[in-house]
Amino acid sequence: MIDPCAGFATSYAQARQRFVAAAEAAGLEVHGRAHPMLGVDGETLAMDIARSGPADAAALLILSSGCHGVEGYCGSGVQNALLADAGFRAAAARAGVALLFVHALNPYGFSWSRRVTHENVDLNRNWQDFSAPLPRNPAYDEIEHWLLPAQWPPAPEVEAALAAWIARRGIGAFQAALSQGQYAHPEGLFFGGHDPTWSRQTLSHVLQEQAGRCRRLAWIDFHTGLGPCGHGERIHAGPDDAATLARARAWWGAQVTSTHDGSSTSPPLSGMMWNAAPALCPQAEYTGIALEFGTLPLQACWQALREDQWFERHPEADAGGRAAVRARMRAAFYVETDDWKRSVVAQSRAAALQALAGLAAP
Ligand SMILES: [Zn+2]
Repeated sequence: MIDPCAGFATSYAQARQRFVAAAEAAGLEVHGRAHPMLGVDGETLAMDIARSGPADAAALLILSSGCHGVEGYCGSGVQNALLADAGFRAAAARAGVALLFVHALNPYGFSWSRRVTHENVDLNRNWQDFSAPLPRNPAYDEIEHWLLPAQWPPAPEVEAALAAWIARRGIGAFQAALSQGQYAHPEGLFFGGHDPTWSRQTLSHVLQEQAGRCRRLAWIDFHTGLGPCGHGERIHAGPDDAATLARARAWWGAQVTSTHDGSSTSPPLSGMMWNAAPALCPQAEYTGIALEFGTLPLQACWQALREDQWFERHPEADAGGRAAVRARMRAAFYVETDDWKRSVVAQSRAAALQALAGLAAP
Protein backbone atom coordinates (compact mmCIF):
# COMPACT_ATOMS: atom_id res chain seq x y z
CA MET A 1 0.00 0.00 0.00
CA ILE A 2 1.49 3.31 -1.08
CA ASP A 3 1.50 6.15 1.46
CA PRO A 4 -1.62 8.23 0.65
CA CYS A 5 0.27 11.41 1.56
CA ALA A 6 2.95 10.79 -1.07
CA GLY A 7 0.95 12.31 -3.90
CA PHE A 8 0.54 15.74 -2.27
CA ALA A 9 2.91 18.44 -3.47
CA THR A 10 4.44 21.69 -2.26
CA SER A 11 4.26 23.58 -5.57
CA TYR A 12 2.22 23.45 -8.77
CA ALA A 13 5.28 22.28 -10.72
CA GLN A 14 5.81 19.40 -8.31
CA ALA A 15 2.10 18.53 -8.37
CA ARG A 16 2.21 18.36 -12.14
CA GLN A 17 5.33 16.17 -12.12
CA ARG A 18 3.74 13.82 -9.62
CA PHE A 19 0.54 13.63 -11.66
CA VAL A 20 2.45 12.77 -14.84
CA ALA A 21 4.56 10.19 -12.97
CA ALA A 22 1.55 8.60 -11.26
CA ALA A 23 -0.39 8.39 -14.54
CA GLU A 24 2.55 6.88 -16.40
CA ALA A 25 3.14 4.38 -13.59
CA ALA A 26 -0.50 3.37 -14.01
CA GLY A 27 0.09 2.89 -17.73
CA LEU A 28 -1.87 6.00 -18.76
CA GLU A 29 -0.81 8.66 -21.24
CA VAL A 30 -1.01 12.28 -20.16
CA HIS A 31 -2.20 14.93 -22.60
CA GLY A 32 -1.43 18.49 -21.56
CA ARG A 33 -3.29 21.52 -22.87
CA ALA A 34 -0.84 24.38 -22.62
CA HIS A 35 -1.87 27.55 -20.79
CA PRO A 36 -0.73 30.85 -22.38
CA MET A 37 1.07 32.18 -19.29
CA LEU A 38 3.93 31.08 -17.04
CA GLY A 39 3.82 30.01 -13.41
CA VAL A 40 5.24 31.62 -10.28
CA ASP A 41 8.66 29.96 -10.77
CA GLY A 42 8.69 30.48 -14.55
CA GLU A 43 7.35 26.98 -15.19
CA THR A 44 4.97 26.12 -18.03
CA LEU A 45 1.33 25.67 -17.08
CA ALA A 46 -1.23 23.23 -18.45
CA MET A 47 -4.51 21.48 -17.87
CA ASP A 48 -3.42 17.82 -17.94
CA ILE A 49 -5.67 14.90 -18.83
CA ALA A 50 -5.23 11.18 -18.18
CA ARG A 51 -7.84 8.56 -19.05
CA SER A 52 -8.27 4.88 -18.36
CA GLY A 53 -10.89 2.79 -20.12
CA PRO A 54 -12.06 2.61 -23.71
CA ALA A 55 -13.13 5.67 -25.69
CA ASP A 56 -16.60 4.16 -26.13
CA ALA A 57 -17.16 3.24 -22.45
CA ALA A 58 -20.83 3.60 -21.50
CA ALA A 59 -19.94 5.02 -18.09
CA LEU A 60 -17.38 7.68 -17.24
CA LEU A 61 -16.22 9.11 -13.90
CA ILE A 62 -14.45 12.48 -14.00
CA LEU A 63 -12.14 13.36 -11.10
CA SER A 64 -10.97 16.98 -11.35
CA SER A 65 -8.71 19.31 -9.39
CA GLY A 66 -7.81 22.97 -9.23
CA CYS A 67 -11.06 24.62 -10.36
CA HIS A 68 -10.14 27.20 -7.72
CA GLY A 69 -6.42 27.33 -8.39
CA VAL A 70 -4.74 27.09 -4.98
CA GLU A 71 -7.36 24.52 -3.89
CA GLY A 72 -5.66 22.22 -6.39
CA TYR A 73 -3.11 21.04 -3.82
CA CYS A 74 -5.89 18.96 -2.29
CA GLY A 75 -7.45 17.58 -5.47
CA SER A 76 -4.08 16.89 -7.06
CA GLY A 77 -3.00 14.88 -4.02
CA VAL A 78 -6.22 12.87 -4.21
CA GLN A 79 -5.83 12.25 -7.95
CA ASN A 80 -2.27 11.06 -7.47
CA ALA A 81 -3.30 8.76 -4.60
CA LEU A 82 -6.08 7.21 -6.73
CA LEU A 83 -3.78 6.80 -9.73
CA ALA A 84 -1.33 4.93 -7.48
CA ASP A 85 -4.17 2.82 -6.05
CA ALA A 86 -4.29 -0.38 -8.12
CA GLY A 87 -7.30 -1.61 -6.13
CA PHE A 88 -9.30 1.49 -7.04
CA ARG A 89 -8.37 1.29 -10.71
CA ALA A 90 -9.25 -2.42 -10.78
CA ALA A 91 -12.63 -1.63 -9.22
CA ALA A 92 -13.29 0.87 -12.02
CA ALA A 93 -12.32 -1.68 -14.67
CA ARG A 94 -14.58 -4.34 -13.07
CA ALA A 95 -17.47 -1.87 -12.97
CA GLY A 96 -16.93 -1.05 -16.66
CA VAL A 97 -16.32 2.61 -15.79
CA ALA A 98 -13.74 4.73 -17.61
CA LEU A 99 -11.83 7.24 -15.45
CA LEU A 100 -10.95 10.74 -16.59
CA PHE A 101 -8.47 12.62 -14.42
CA VAL A 102 -8.40 16.37 -15.15
CA HIS A 103 -5.44 17.91 -13.34
CA ALA A 104 -5.32 21.67 -12.67
CA LEU A 105 -8.44 23.08 -14.30
CA ASN A 106 -7.03 26.50 -13.40
CA PRO A 107 -3.26 25.95 -13.46
CA TYR A 108 -2.46 29.67 -13.24
CA GLY A 109 -4.30 30.08 -9.94
CA PHE A 110 -2.77 26.85 -8.66
CA SER A 111 0.77 28.02 -9.39
CA TRP A 112 0.29 31.61 -8.19
CA SER A 113 -1.68 30.60 -5.07
CA ARG A 114 -4.79 32.41 -6.22
CA ARG A 115 -8.35 31.11 -6.21
CA VAL A 116 -9.16 32.77 -9.54
CA THR A 117 -7.88 32.38 -13.09
CA HIS A 118 -5.40 34.71 -14.79
CA GLU A 119 -8.46 36.67 -15.96
CA ASN A 120 -9.29 37.26 -12.25
CA VAL A 121 -12.34 35.04 -12.73
CA ASP A 122 -13.89 32.56 -10.34
CA LEU A 123 -14.11 29.58 -12.71
CA ASN A 124 -17.03 28.17 -10.73
CA ARG A 125 -19.11 31.31 -11.52
CA ASN A 126 -18.01 31.58 -15.18
CA TRP A 127 -20.55 29.17 -16.72
CA GLN A 128 -23.09 31.88 -17.56
CA ASP A 129 -24.79 32.56 -20.85
CA PHE A 130 -22.94 35.79 -21.62
CA SER A 131 -25.43 36.76 -24.31
CA ALA A 132 -28.10 37.10 -21.60
CA PRO A 133 -28.29 39.61 -18.72
CA LEU A 134 -25.93 38.59 -15.92
CA PRO A 135 -27.02 38.17 -12.29
CA ARG A 136 -26.76 41.26 -10.11
CA ASN A 137 -25.30 41.26 -6.60
CA PRO A 138 -26.30 44.55 -4.93
CA ALA A 139 -25.03 43.42 -1.51
CA TYR A 140 -21.51 43.02 -2.92
CA ASP A 141 -21.79 46.46 -4.55
CA GLU A 142 -22.55 47.91 -1.11
CA ILE A 143 -19.55 46.43 0.69
CA GLU A 144 -16.79 46.28 -1.94
CA HIS A 145 -15.18 49.56 -0.85
CA TRP A 146 -14.75 48.07 2.63
CA LEU A 147 -13.61 44.65 1.43
CA LEU A 148 -10.95 46.21 -0.79
CA PRO A 149 -10.15 49.63 0.68
CA ALA A 150 -7.49 52.02 -0.63
CA GLN A 151 -5.04 51.04 2.14
CA TRP A 152 -3.92 47.62 3.32
CA PRO A 153 -4.17 46.55 6.07
CA PRO A 154 -7.58 48.22 6.31
CA ALA A 155 -8.01 51.14 8.70
CA PRO A 156 -9.88 50.28 11.94
CA GLU A 157 -12.88 52.37 10.82
CA VAL A 158 -13.14 50.32 7.60
CA GLU A 159 -13.20 47.04 9.55
CA ALA A 160 -15.70 48.56 11.99
CA ALA A 161 -18.00 49.61 9.13
CA LEU A 162 -17.83 46.12 7.62
CA ALA A 163 -18.48 44.52 11.02
CA ALA A 164 -21.49 46.79 11.50
CA TRP A 165 -22.88 45.76 8.09
CA ILE A 166 -22.46 42.09 9.04
CA ALA A 167 -24.09 42.68 12.46
CA ARG A 168 -27.04 44.37 10.73
CA ARG A 169 -27.53 41.93 7.84
CA GLY A 170 -26.20 38.67 9.28
CA ILE A 171 -23.18 36.51 8.53
CA GLY A 172 -25.22 34.45 6.03
CA ALA A 173 -25.95 37.59 4.02
CA PHE A 174 -22.24 38.46 4.08
CA GLN A 175 -21.24 34.98 2.89
CA ALA A 176 -23.85 35.17 0.13
CA ALA A 177 -22.72 38.68 -0.90
CA LEU A 178 -19.21 37.40 -1.38
CA SER A 179 -19.48 33.88 -2.64
CA GLN A 180 -22.56 34.04 -4.88
CA GLY A 181 -20.29 35.84 -7.33
CA GLN A 182 -20.58 39.21 -9.01
CA TYR A 183 -20.31 40.44 -12.59
CA ALA A 184 -19.93 44.21 -12.09
CA HIS A 185 -16.40 44.55 -10.66
CA PRO A 186 -13.77 42.88 -12.87
CA GLU A 187 -11.05 43.68 -10.33
CA GLY A 188 -13.15 42.52 -7.40
CA LEU A 189 -13.64 39.32 -5.44
CA PHE A 190 -15.63 36.34 -6.79
CA PHE A 191 -15.87 37.97 -10.24
CA GLY A 192 -17.62 35.59 -12.64
CA GLY A 193 -16.22 37.12 -15.83
CA HIS A 194 -17.70 38.75 -18.93
CA ASP A 195 -16.57 35.98 -21.30
CA PRO A 196 -15.69 32.28 -21.14
CA THR A 197 -12.23 31.97 -19.57
CA TRP A 198 -9.33 29.95 -20.99
CA SER A 199 -10.16 27.23 -18.44
CA ARG A 200 -13.82 27.12 -19.48
CA GLN A 201 -12.94 26.92 -23.17
CA THR A 202 -10.27 24.29 -22.59
CA LEU A 203 -12.44 22.15 -20.35
CA SER A 204 -15.27 22.40 -22.87
CA HIS A 205 -13.01 20.89 -25.54
CA VAL A 206 -11.92 18.15 -23.12
CA LEU A 207 -15.52 17.25 -22.26
CA GLN A 208 -16.63 17.21 -25.89
CA GLU A 209 -13.72 14.96 -26.77
CA GLN A 210 -13.78 12.67 -23.73
CA ALA A 211 -17.38 12.64 -22.49
CA GLY A 212 -19.35 13.05 -25.69
CA ARG A 213 -20.14 9.35 -26.09
CA CYS A 214 -20.82 7.95 -22.61
CA ARG A 215 -24.41 7.20 -21.53
CA ARG A 216 -23.78 7.75 -17.82
CA LEU A 217 -21.49 10.47 -16.52
CA ALA A 218 -20.37 11.15 -12.94
CA TRP A 219 -18.11 13.98 -11.78
CA ILE A 220 -16.37 14.60 -8.49
CA ASP A 221 -14.72 18.03 -8.38
CA PHE A 222 -12.40 18.62 -5.41
CA HIS A 223 -12.49 21.88 -3.46
CA THR A 224 -11.29 23.30 -0.14
CA GLY A 225 -12.03 26.19 2.20
CA LEU A 226 -15.54 25.49 3.52
CA GLY A 227 -16.62 23.57 6.59
CA PRO A 228 -14.85 21.95 9.56
CA CYS A 229 -11.15 21.18 9.08
CA GLY A 230 -10.67 17.87 7.27
CA HIS A 231 -14.38 17.17 6.84
CA GLY A 232 -15.49 16.51 3.27
CA GLU A 233 -18.90 18.00 2.48
CA ARG A 234 -20.55 16.32 -0.48
CA ILE A 235 -22.36 19.14 -2.26
CA HIS A 236 -24.76 18.27 -5.07
CA ALA A 237 -23.28 19.73 -8.25
CA GLY A 238 -26.17 19.56 -10.65
CA PRO A 239 -29.46 21.11 -11.68
CA ASP A 240 -32.22 21.95 -9.22
CA ASP A 241 -34.06 18.81 -10.17
CA ALA A 242 -35.47 16.28 -7.71
CA ALA A 243 -34.49 13.18 -9.71
CA THR A 244 -30.83 14.22 -10.09
CA LEU A 245 -30.53 15.15 -6.41
CA ALA A 246 -32.21 11.88 -5.39
CA ARG A 247 -29.73 9.93 -7.51
CA ALA A 248 -26.80 11.81 -5.93
CA ARG A 249 -28.17 10.98 -2.46
CA ALA A 250 -28.72 7.33 -3.43
CA TRP A 251 -25.07 7.08 -4.49
CA TRP A 252 -23.32 9.26 -1.93
CA GLY A 253 -25.71 9.17 1.02
CA ALA A 254 -28.43 11.30 2.56
CA GLN A 255 -25.71 13.69 3.76
CA VAL A 256 -25.33 15.09 0.23
CA THR A 257 -26.15 18.76 0.65
CA SER A 258 -27.60 21.12 -1.92
CA THR A 259 -27.17 24.83 -2.49
CA HIS A 260 -30.65 24.77 -4.04
CA ASP A 261 -32.50 23.88 -0.82
CA GLY A 262 -30.32 25.60 1.81
CA SER A 263 -28.85 22.36 3.21
CA SER A 264 -25.28 23.23 2.18
CA THR A 265 -22.81 25.47 4.02
CA SER A 266 -22.60 27.20 0.63
CA PRO A 267 -25.32 29.73 -0.32
CA PRO A 268 -27.21 29.42 -3.65
CA LEU A 269 -24.84 29.97 -6.57
CA SER A 270 -25.09 30.33 -10.33
CA GLY A 271 -22.73 30.02 -13.27
CA MET A 272 -21.19 26.90 -11.78
CA MET A 273 -18.85 24.60 -13.67
CA TRP A 274 -21.10 21.53 -13.46
CA ASN A 275 -23.36 23.27 -16.02
CA ALA A 276 -20.82 22.11 -18.58
CA ALA A 277 -21.87 18.48 -18.15
CA PRO A 278 -25.54 18.65 -19.15
CA ALA A 279 -24.80 21.39 -21.72
CA LEU A 280 -21.93 19.64 -23.51
CA CYS A 281 -22.85 15.98 -22.86
CA PRO A 282 -26.63 16.00 -23.31
CA GLN A 283 -26.57 12.32 -24.35
CA ALA A 284 -25.50 11.27 -20.83
CA GLU A 285 -27.32 10.93 -17.54
CA TYR A 286 -25.24 13.23 -15.33
CA THR A 287 -24.68 12.95 -11.56
CA GLY A 288 -22.05 14.95 -9.68
CA ILE A 289 -20.79 16.44 -6.46
CA ALA A 290 -18.27 18.98 -5.34
CA LEU A 291 -16.29 17.38 -2.54
CA GLU A 292 -15.43 20.33 -0.31
CA PHE A 293 -12.83 19.87 2.45
CA GLY A 294 -12.59 22.22 5.40
CA THR A 295 -9.30 24.00 6.10
CA LEU A 296 -9.22 27.14 8.25
CA PRO A 297 -12.27 28.93 9.69
CA LEU A 298 -14.24 30.80 7.03
CA GLN A 299 -13.21 34.24 8.34
CA ALA A 300 -9.54 33.36 7.86
CA CYS A 301 -10.22 32.24 4.27
CA TRP A 302 -12.12 35.47 3.53
CA GLN A 303 -9.32 37.56 5.01
CA ALA A 304 -6.74 35.77 2.85
CA LEU A 305 -8.91 36.35 -0.24
CA ARG A 306 -9.31 40.07 0.52
CA GLU A 307 -5.59 40.50 1.02
CA ASP A 308 -4.76 38.52 -2.14
CA GLN A 309 -7.18 40.62 -4.17
CA TRP A 310 -5.85 43.86 -2.69
CA PHE A 311 -2.30 42.97 -3.75
CA GLU A 312 -3.57 42.02 -7.20
CA ARG A 313 -5.02 45.53 -7.52
CA HIS A 314 -1.82 47.11 -6.25
CA PRO A 315 1.07 45.81 -8.33
CA GLU A 316 3.19 48.65 -6.95
CA ALA A 317 3.06 47.03 -3.47
CA ASP A 318 6.27 45.37 -2.37
CA ALA A 319 7.21 41.91 -3.63
CA GLY A 320 7.93 40.55 -0.15
CA GLY A 321 4.36 41.38 0.82
CA ARG A 322 3.04 39.50 -2.21
CA ALA A 323 5.06 36.40 -1.37
CA ALA A 324 3.69 36.46 2.19
CA VAL A 325 0.16 36.78 0.80
CA ARG A 326 0.68 33.75 -1.40
CA ALA A 327 1.84 31.77 1.63
CA ARG A 328 -1.26 32.83 3.59
CA MET A 329 -3.54 31.92 0.66
CA ARG A 330 -1.98 28.49 0.51
CA ALA A 331 -2.33 28.02 4.27
CA ALA A 332 -5.99 29.04 4.02
CA PHE A 333 -6.82 26.43 1.35
CA TYR A 334 -4.37 23.58 2.05
CA VAL A 335 -3.64 21.90 5.38
CA GLU A 336 -0.17 20.41 5.12
CA THR A 337 -0.43 17.72 7.77
CA ASP A 338 -0.39 13.96 7.24
CA ASP A 339 -3.62 13.55 9.23
CA TRP A 340 -5.49 15.97 6.98
CA LYS A 341 -4.10 14.42 3.79
CA ARG A 342 -4.90 10.86 4.90
CA SER A 343 -8.41 11.82 5.88
CA VAL A 344 -8.94 13.66 2.57
CA VAL A 345 -7.74 10.66 0.54
CA ALA A 346 -9.85 8.17 2.53
CA GLN A 347 -13.05 10.24 2.13
CA SER A 348 -12.34 10.88 -1.55
CA ARG A 349 -11.63 7.22 -2.27
CA ALA A 350 -14.89 6.25 -0.57
CA ALA A 351 -16.82 8.80 -2.65
CA ALA A 352 -15.13 7.64 -5.87
CA LEU A 353 -16.00 3.98 -5.11
CA GLN A 354 -19.62 5.02 -4.47
CA ALA A 355 -19.63 6.75 -7.85
CA LEU A 356 -18.37 3.55 -9.52
CA ALA A 357 -21.18 1.58 -7.87
CA GLY A 358 -23.75 4.15 -8.94
CA LEU A 359 -22.51 4.23 -12.51
CA ALA A 360 -22.40 0.43 -12.73
CA ALA A 361 -25.97 -0.04 -11.48
CA PRO A 362 -28.55 -0.25 -14.28
ZN1 LIG B 1 -13.49 25.82 -4.45
